[in-house]
Formats: sequence, C-alpha cells, structure tokens
Amino acid sequence: MISATILPPATLGVLGGGQLGRYFVHAAHELGYRVIVLDPDPDSPAGVIADQHLVAGYEDTQALLELANRCAAITTEFENVPAATLSWLAQQKIPVHPGPEAVAICQNRIEEKRFLTQSALPLGPYAEIHSEQDIDNAAEALFPSILKTARLGYDGKGQARVTTREAAKEAFRRFGGVACVMEKQLALQSEVSVVIARNPQGEVAGFPPTQNHHCNGILDYSMMPASDISEALATEAQRLAQNIATHLKYIGTLSVEFFVVDNALLINEMAPRPHNSGHYTLDACKTNQFEQQVRALCGLPLGDPQAHCNAVMVNLLGDLWRYDAPDQPQPPDWSVLLSIPALKLHFYGKDQPRPGRKMGHFTLLGASPAELKATALSAQDKLKTPRTP
Ligand code: ADP
Ligand code: MG
Repeated sequence: MISATILPPATLGVLGGGQLGRYFVHAAHELGYRVIVLDPDPDSPAGVIADQHLVAGYEDTQALLELANRCAAITTEFENVPAATLSWLAQQKIPVHPGPEAVAICQNRIEEKRFLTQSALPLGPYAEIHSEQDIDNAAEALFPSILKTARLGYDGKGQARVTTREAAKEAFRRFGGVACVMEKQLALQSEVSVVIARNPQGEVAGFPPTQNHHCNGILDYSMMPASDISEALATEAQRLAQNIATHLKYIGTLSVEFFVVDNALLINEMAPRPHNSGHYTLDACKTNQFEQQVRALCGLPLGDPQAHCNAVMVNLLGDLWRYDAPDQPQPPDWSVLLSIPALKLHFYGKDQPRPGRKMGHFTLLGASPAELKATALSAQDKLKTPRTP
C-alpha cells in the first residue's frame, strides 16, 4: 500500500518515550507536526516534550485506541514494542511504519538470522538454541561462543560468553530456558553501522557509515568517517543496508550493525529505528536520522543525508556521576566540554544517572579524523577524572 502524503500540522504517534523518541518529537515539531507519545513512564524523555503523553502500557487497548483515533500515522522508537500492538494499530487503517512484520524480524535474533540467511546476506556462524540438546548438537567450530537471548537483549544484556558446552547450558538455564542463538565469537577487526531511511515510494537514503567502539557491551563512541575500513567496504555496507531495507519493504529509519572480520562485512543485527551511532547526524548531516524518520513516516521525499563535516560522537553514561552521599549524584565538570567551540553537548532530560544509563552524548565536529578522535577522547577522559575541590 502506498501511503498518502501526510502534511503538517497532522498529529503523529510514537510508541516509546526514550531519547530516540525525544529526538523524533523535536524533528516532527520542527516540521510543524504534533506528536503523541505512548510510554508507561510519566517522566519519559519524549513524553515530557510531546503535545500529549499517554502514560500507559504498550498493550493498553484504551490508550492504543486513543492513539489510533488521534494520529495520522504511527511509528516506534523502541524495538520491543509487542508486534501484536503494531498489528492491531495497522488494522485501524492508519499507516504504521515500520510495519509489524519488519519489527517482528528485527526484535527476534532467530527471525533476524533466518531472514538474513534466506536473503543470502552475509552473517557469522550460529546455531538456534531451543533446548540443552541443541547445545549438545551445536558444531564444535562455534566455540568459544556467545549465547544471546533471541528477544529483549540490548546494550550487551541477555548475553553470555562461553567456552564450553557446559558453560553454555548453565547460561541457557540462567536465562530461564528461553530461545537463544549461539554465535561463534569472532575476531572483530572493527564494528561499523549504517543508518538508512526508506519512504513508501521506495526512495532510500543512507547516512555515511560510522565506526563504533563499545565498552562493556555498550556503545562508547562512534566515528564518521569509519576510517578503519576501505571506501569499498563503506560502499558495500551501504549497499547491504539498502538491500535489507528493500527486502523488508521497510518504511522509516533502519539501523544495521556490521562486524568486520577478515576484511569482509558480516551483519550483526538490525534495529527498526534510528540508532545511537547515528546521533552524529544531528549535528554533522544536512538531514538527521530523526527528520528522515518523520519524512519516511509521512510519505515525504527524503532529505539529503550528506555530512557537511566529519564527526566523533561520545556517549555520556550515568557512570560519570559521583555519589558523595546516597541519592545525591554529582555530575562531572561539564565545562570541560562546553569550552570546546566545535563540540555539541546533548542531554536527554533524565533525572537518575544510573550506571550504564545513557544520559546524553556529545559530538565533536571538524575535519581531521585523527584530531577529532584525540580531542574527543581526551575530553571524555577529563570527565572521568574527579573534580578537584
Ligand atoms: P546488543 O547491541 O543488542 O546488546 P550485539 O549482538 O550487538 O547486542 O552485541 C553487543 C556487542 O558485543 C557487539 O557490538 C560486539 O562488540 C560484541 N559481540 C556481539 N556478538 C559478537 C560475536 N559473535 N563475536 C564477537 N563480538 C561480538
Ligand atoms: Mg548491537
């Protein structure tokens, strides 16, 4: 179905109220749309800036009905929205993008790997694990491996690195016996990602790939350009992301994470939404990943994804706050960042700085990738150093 163009000041709905939803609200507001956010947390970062915040669960039929009645189109910022919720909304005859089928694939690692295999797209060796028997039957070549729950994992959660079948079984039991994938632990040369948008007319626009560095399973910083990989691999990553979007008949902003192994790309995972590694587009690209999400949802022509400068994006996690007394988190010295003129500082409006929680990020803009990296990481390092009284 080709959706009709939805023009401002129509009302758009978004499922999920985290920081990705918050930027969606900003982008929609800039273009003149109104936004209703559905999220059970009354203090959710997107909910507090939306035109209306429905404080309800994702399966609350009354809230879903209100969303369906009041919105011209609905998107999601959170891949774990129940697929049944998206299907129900889609049956209400309003555009729901990305659609329930695409989200169902991206939110389940088993479905995702089956989809990639069927589409003849490159991925690493793995086995589906539904029982301890499947662990016994898995190929020896998969070890050492990583057991990952098929659903609901993020930021390295729901994962266990295991070297033996016994350890894998123990982890499987610890995860409650839920369906898992067991992936061969690969020697990663680097990790890159591509954020791409596709609209109902089938037009696609990919942002330049980033090179991503993780710490404890959480994205630490992203660099654009991805200078560790060749131009040819960067182009190939774009081509693969486009291929995935087309195969999924995807509408919206889609993120694809890649591993680089032996100078070749393997697809790690997809997310049916904008991506943390795409935050650099807010400050460094002609159109950012959230504006593309709005444009694709509304059936508008996509914006120009080209970068106007190079960038490094660094996450600011709750670990940076110090606790001199319980319940009194002390922020680090933000003047370290604010004193750098080409640095853009972002916060998501969250009160509680818990370890591992994404509180904000900064993007440093410039020309030389080596200088950008050195300046950004030195600033990050200074934030970690306790302030002198
Ligand atoms: P999520 O981002 O949902 O937490 P990922 O599957 O992307 O889960 O895993 C998080 C990180 O763990 C990856 O970005 C990568 O650094 C590492 N990792 C995951 N799978 C593998 C693997 N098969 N081999 C090596 N490293 C891996
Ligand atoms: Mg990941």
